[in-house]
Amino acid sequence: MAKVGIPRTLGYYTFFSLWKTFLEELGLEVIISPPTNKKTLDLGVQETVNDACVPIKLFHGHVMALKNKVDYLFIPRLVSADGQSTFCPKFLGLPDMVRFSREDLPPIIDNTFRIQKGRPSWFNFLYSIGKELQATPQAIIRGYWQAIKKHKKYHSLLNRGLFPEQAMENLDQPYSSISFPKSSTSPINLAVVGYPYSIFDPYISGNLLHNLRAMNIGIITPENISWAAMKKMSSRLPQNFFWFYSNRVAWSVLHLLEKTRNIDGVIHVTAFGCGPDAMLNKLLELEAKDHNQTPFLSLSIDEHSGEAGIITRLEAFVDMLSYQNKK
Ligand code: SF4
Repeated sequence: MAKVGIPRTLGYYTFFSLWKTFLEELGLEVIISPPTNKKTLDLGVQETVNDACVPIKLFHGHVMALKNKVDYLFIPRLVSADGQSTFCPKFLGLPDMVRFSREDLPPIIDNTFRIQKGRPSWFNFLYSIGKELQATPQAIIRGYWQAIKKHKKYHSLLNRGLFPEQAMENLDQPYSSISFPKSSTSPINLAVVGYPYSIFDPYISGNLLHNLRAMNIGIITPENISWAAMKKMSSRLPQNFFWFYSNRVAWSVLHLLEKTRNIDGVIHVTAFGCGPDAMLNKLLELEAKDHNQTPFLSLSIDEHSGEAGIITRLEAFVDMLSYQNKK
């Protein structure tokens, strides 16, 4: 059975269930790279140009962890997921960036994912992959329906409060047996926003979510907000971003500030060297200020960030919020 490797970062947090289900339905074995560790990051830094953002460096590290274990690498060219915005330019060039970084890589599956007119585009994307892998039309169609079903369930689990790894673990369980988080009873509730590959990777985020939970902080992330709810906020900005993930973050923060009004502060996890974040971070800071001076913390991560430094900043932020709440 041929093995396909999926790097555990970037689009993995959004499309993992779709990709994995489809590839397995075609009879391939899916291998996910191990969770990020120091070696993954070091290898990524070594293989990437200096001025790339840390998530792109990390992606190369995950490719290195997979390259000798699989027959194919799965690195689709992610162009657009909603037919309006695009993924950031580094996503667009990712398959080429990886391909030209080393000569000893297995073949790369790099079909283009560009949603233009809804569902048929999803089908066309998966169909083109299936055809290249010489699957029968029947297997492709069956795989497509199964993959769409799992993708919908994955996002519905996220919208009910699970984080990506929890949603992945529970994907095959019936809803009735899954324990979803109850409404927060924490004295402090925070919006923790950023790109999913930054906030949900425990290593690169300095175990941010775990550390906040250990401080008894209620957390909500953009992944826990439905696409329909966040999309409604698109009319709030005079100009939306060109980039898919940046819009998701901006709309989520606006949704939380304006519609739910139950957050005590916003933490924006931003990657050093990220072009889109240079604008997004300022916008979020100004919006937080405009909404009752909501406290805002910008947490920049790079390959040198250590967990201890991140904890110190979190503790200072949480102390300030507790003091403010008491007052
Ligand atoms: S959006 Fe920013 S962090 Fe993400 S890949 Fe693009 S430059 Fe890097």
